[in-house]
Amino acid sequence: MKKVIVVGGGISGISVAYLIKKHTNFSVTIIEKDRIGGKASTVRTNGYLIETGPNGFLSNKAEIKKLIEESHFDDQIIQSNDKANRKFIFSSGKLWEIPNNPVKLLFSGFLSTKVKFNILKEPFVRPYPNDETVESFVKRRLGEEFLNKVIGPMVCGVFAGDPKIMSMESNFKRIKEIEKEYGSLIKGLISLMKNKKTNANATTGGFSSKLMSFKNGVLSFLNHLAKDIEIIKDTIVELKQEGNGYALKGGKSSYTTDIVVFAIPSYALREILKNYDYELSKILNKIPYAPMSVVALGYDDKDLPDVKNSFGYLFALNEIRDVIGVLFDSSVFDFRAERYKVLVRLMVGGQLAKDAPFKQNIIESAVKELQRSASIFKPFEFSFVKRHKKAIPIYTMEHKSVFESIREFERKNSGIFITGNAFYGVGLNDCVKAAYQTLEKIKGGH
Ligand SMILES: Cc1cc2nc3c(=O)[nH]c(=O)nc-3n(C[C@H](O)[C@H](O)[C@H](O)COP(=O)(O)OP(=O)(O)OC[C@H]3O[C@@H](n4cnc5c(N)ncnc54)[C@H](O)[C@@H]3O)c2cc1C
Repeated sequence: MKKVIVVGGGISGISVAYLIKKHTNFSVTIIEKDRIGGKASTVRTNGYLIETGPNGFLSNKAEIKKLIEESHFDDQIIQSNDKANRKFIFSSGKLWEIPNNPVKLLFSGFLSTKVKFNILKEPFVRPYPNDETVESFVKRRLGEEFLNKVIGPMVCGVFAGDPKIMSMESNFKRIKEIEKEYGSLIKGLISLMKNKKTNANATTGGFSSKLMSFKNGVLSFLNHLAKDIEIIKDTIVELKQEGNGYALKGGKSSYTTDIVVFAIPSYALREILKNYDYELSKILNKIPYAPMSVVALGYDDKDLPDVKNSFGYLFALNEIRDVIGVLFDSSVFDFRAERYKVLVRLMVGGQLAKDAPFKQNIIESAVKELQRSASIFKPFEFSFVKRHKKAIPIYTMEHKSVFESIREFERKNSGIFITGNAFYGVGLNDCVKAAYQTLEKIKGGH
C-alpha cells in the first residue's frame, strides 16, 4: 500500500487527506505543527461563537458544497439571514447602503456624475491584452473614484491586499477574460447575465448566491473531515529524496513516504526546500503576506444603531485607517450570539494598514473606528483579539511565474505535490477545489 504524508492541517491539507483516504487505497497521515484548522478557528466563549479566521463561503461555490455533501455534513450547513443582504460602504464620512441591483447603484447619490459617465463610456475603452495591476485595470476602464469607492474596498475586504500591486490575471482571471472576449466588462456582464438567467430559470428559478457557514463554525467542518485521519503533531524542517520516495525531517522525528503533499504557507515551504531546491525556495520569497487581526466585540443590542441589522461594511480606500471591514456576525448568521446580544467582528490591517494589527491598543482603535464610521458609542461588554502576522498571501504581478515554477517542480519531482492558499486562490472553496485537483494528479500518478 502506498503511503501519503500531507504536511499542513489547514483546510487545504485536511481536504486533500480526506479525499485521498476516501478515493484511493493509499494510507494517509497529516503532519501539522500546531493544531488542525490553520487559519480557520472557531472560539466559543461568553455566549458568542467567534470565527477568528474564515467565516463562510458563497452558495454558488461548487467544490466545497460537493465535499460537504460527500462527507455527510450537509445537516450542519447554515445560510445567512435576509438582514445580511444589507451592505454598506463608508465613504466621505458616512455609511452608504449599497443596493443589490447595480442599476439602482447608478441612480443613488453614492457615485458622482463623473463615474456614471465613465460607466457609460466603458464599452468603448480598448482592452489591454497583458496582465496589469488591479489598480491600473480599474482606473483604465472605470476611473479612480470607482476604484476608491467600489473595487478597492472589495479587494481590501476579501484579499486584505493593495490594488496597486495585485495582479489582475492572478486574482481576477475571469474578469480579464471577459474584457478580452467581449471588449468590455459591461457588454460581457450583460451577455453573461442573460445566459445565466435563461439557465437559472430553467433549473433553480434564480441565480443569486448567499453566504453559507456551519452551525458550530468553520472549524467544526474541518474537525469532521479530520476525525478518521492519522494526525502527527510535528514541524517539518527538511525534505530529502530516499529510494523511490522521500524522507521528511521533523522537529521531533523523521518520516518516510512514497508521496508527499505540501499544504503549508509559501514561507514555510521555502524553509523546507532550501537544501532540496534552492532556486524554488528563492522564488517562493516572491509571495508577500498581508497581516490582519480580528477584533471581536460583544454588545447588548439595546440602543445600538440600525446598521447592526446588516451584513456590515467596508471602507473606501481613502477612508482606511486601521480597520478594513466591519461584520455584524450576529445578524449574518444565527447561533453566533445569544438573544439580545450583538457580535461585531472588525478586520484590522491588511496591506494598506500594515502596522494596525500589531498595535498594543488595538481594541481602543477598533472602538474609535466604530464610533467614527457607525456612531457606535455604547461600551462593549466583551472583547476578543486574534492576531495573524501573515494572514493572507498576496498574488502580485510575479505570481504567474511563481505558479509556473511550482508546476515545473511538481513535473520534475514525481510524488511531490504542492497545494494551499498561496497558489490556488485564498477562498475556502479555492482550497477545496485545489484538493480535488491534487487528488486527480495523485490518482494519475503525477
Ligand atoms: C482573518 C481571515 C478571514 C478570512 N475569511 C475568509 C472567509 O470568510 N471566507 C473564505 O473563503 N476565506 C477566508 N479567509 C481565507 C482562508 O481562511 C484561507 O485562505 C484558508 O483557510 C487557508 O487554508 P490553507 O490550508 O491553505 O492554509 P493554512 O490555514 O495557513 O494552513 C496551513 C497549515 O500548515 C501548518 N504548517 C505550517 N508550516 C508547517 C510545517 N513546517 N510543518 C507542519 N505543518 C506546518 C500550519 O500550522 C497550518 O495549520 C480568511 C483568512 C483570514 C486570515
